[in-house]
Amino acid sequence: MSAPPAPIADPHQVLREVFGYSAFRGPQEAVVARVLAGGSALVLMPTGGGKSLCWQVPALCLEGLTVVITPLIALMDDQVEGLRQLGVAAGALHSALPPEEASATWAALLRGELKLLYISPERLFSGEGARLLEGLPVPLALFAIDEAHCLSQWGHDFRPDYLALGQLVERFPAVPRLALTATADPRTREDIARHLRLPPEGTFVASFNRANIRYWVRPKEEPRRQLLAFLAEHREEAGIVYARSRKRVEQVAALLQAEGIDALAYHAGLEPERRSAALRRFRGGGPVVVVATIAFGMGINRPDVRFVAHIDLPKSLEAYYQETGRAGRDGLPAEAWMIHGGGDGVQLRQWIEESSASEEQKRVERGKLDALIQFAEAATCRRQLLLAHLGETLPEPCGNCDGCLDPQPGVEVTEPARKALSAVHRTGHRFGAAHLVDVLLGADTARIRELGHHTLSVHGIGKELDRGQWRSLFRQLVSLGYLISDPETRGGLRFGPEALVRPLLRGEVSLSVPLPPPGRERRQANARAAAGSGAGGPGSSGAAVGVADLSEGQAVRFADLKRWRLEQAREQGVPPYVVFHDRTLIELACRQPTTPEELATVSGVGRAKLERYGADLLAMLSSPSASSPPQASSAPAASSAPPDA
Ligand code: ADP
Ligand code: ZN
Repeated sequence: MSAPPAPIADPHQVLREVFGYSAFRGPQEAVVARVLAGGSALVLMPTGGGKSLCWQVPALCLEGLTVVITPLIALMDDQVEGLRQLGVAAGALHSALPPEEASATWAALLRGELKLLYISPERLFSGEGARLLEGLPVPLALFAIDEAHCLSQWGHDFRPDYLALGQLVERFPAVPRLALTATADPRTREDIARHLRLPPEGTFVASFNRANIRYWVRPKEEPRRQLLAFLAEHREEAGIVYARSRKRVEQVAALLQAEGIDALAYHAGLEPERRSAALRRFRGGGPVVVVATIAFGMGINRPDVRFVAHIDLPKSLEAYYQETGRAGRDGLPAEAWMIHGGGDGVQLRQWIEESSASEEQKRVERGKLDALIQFAEAATCRRQLLLAHLGETLPEPCGNCDGCLDPQPGVEVTEPARKALSAVHRTGHRFGAAHLVDVLLGADTARIRELGHHTLSVHGIGKELDRGQWRSLFRQLVSLGYLISDPETRGGLRFGPEALVRPLLRGEVSLSVPLPPPGRERRQANARAAAGSGAGGPGSSGAAVGVADLSEGQAVRFADLKRWRLEQAREQGVPPYVVFHDRTLIELACRQPTTPEELATVSGVGRAKLERYGADLLAMLSSPSASSPPQASSAPAASSAPPDA
């Protein structure tokens, strides 16, 4: 066995001079050290945690070629562009590459010029790939296997091509293997380690807490109005709205367009051209809202996605975490917003019951759904619940979710709850909440008269709460187990276990739950304004300065810088974030450096970018701003008025 090649440069120096960053994050430093010492490793890190640096830094320290294996073409292209901007020789080989680029990459490889090669697993072992691994003029330094969960059949994204990666162990025993994934569940983790023979001491786990993401969940009351009000707070920002079905995606995209919002639809049923046009638009930067099914996800690595909104419940809490994780990869404040109604859960439950899965599988699915509903209905810190579900403990409430920032105080509802249960009982345990609320409020609808429900003793006995409050109470009675929504009667409510229901009916126990105030749902914006964007619990301490924190003058600068960046990106045909991340532009706008030395200390400004853009930036920062008033995005007051729905 040959000894590991000696590092030819110091990783801290590479981090500083090439990438322009001052310090490693989380386990990055330990991972890099292990790889440089010739060890293999498994890295579990959330999206946005900084996995790329774990192989990019060693690649520049080690002699020879680092091979990065990933199934995501968009990621390959972005990283290759990004590395070239940093003055690093990188190339990719994948199916969507124009032939002349592929042959240029080959030529560079055979001349031994590349430091990093990005390749898909299926290419790696096909004819040309095999040739590649055998006949290089330089040593193989490292195999980085990104999205390593694709190796596991337990995971949600198994790819048979990944199994072939086991061959690397036999064929190149001396080349370190670095497997990385954002999927942390233990079974997947074991699968990866076993297949790639990664020793236990080579496992590195970062915290999965995404401190910069603010979680906000609300009952679904008037979905359209709620969504429009939310989007009004996010003008000039890019985000994703997830909906369950293709039809709903189309409807909501059309609604948003009619409201003058730059929105696109995306789902698997679109023609390929429309899909790739949507992807291009999204990758191209700028404020755009993509309304999508979960088909829109893997490979979305735009770092400045400022929000992810769910207007339907996701499939599970794990799915929610992955989907919301696409927001704020750049570490700047971002928002995960969701509305949910009792009907969503009922529908999901029905799908489980009607599916052809085994009884065992159905049990697992029911458990997952319960966890999701519990999260959605929670009145406490959501981040604590979410992380607990991922197997991590957050000792203190986070200070950056609605449970922490806008707690809903409990209201004594024993009497209304008894009335609600009576209404269920008197109507025969088969009606949904909407009808039951009508009965309690004494409504005079055709359906009520038809069913004779206006003659019941419970008709009209519930005037103390309004419709929204009753709906909320019913939802919570379901989530607490007093009521069960029965798929047999299409979501009709029936009693839960007698041991739970009877004491409440008899008035032997009392019940307090948070209820919305009477009238319309309290405006979220008010609560948020009161909480202030800088309100920091322990969880938010990692969140950086966001656009909303800029002064007026800084916001104007930031707008100038963004315009400049867009020009650069267009000229070079790359996405804007490849030129500079928002985080770097914000720091430039705040600090306004005046010398190259000062400029070099800004995070994200390495040697190559300093040379390339330094003069331009300094000239721009020293001249009076080109923009007149700040854009709407930087003037929070302008966007807080609710649209009239
Ligand atoms: P992942 O692949 O884990 O989703 P990335 O590798 O894309 O995450 O990194 C997310 C963002 O964090 C990128 O913008 C990256 O440049 C930045 N980043 C990563 N590590 C550091 C660091 N040590 N210092 C500053 N920024 C970092
Ligand atoms: Zn919280």
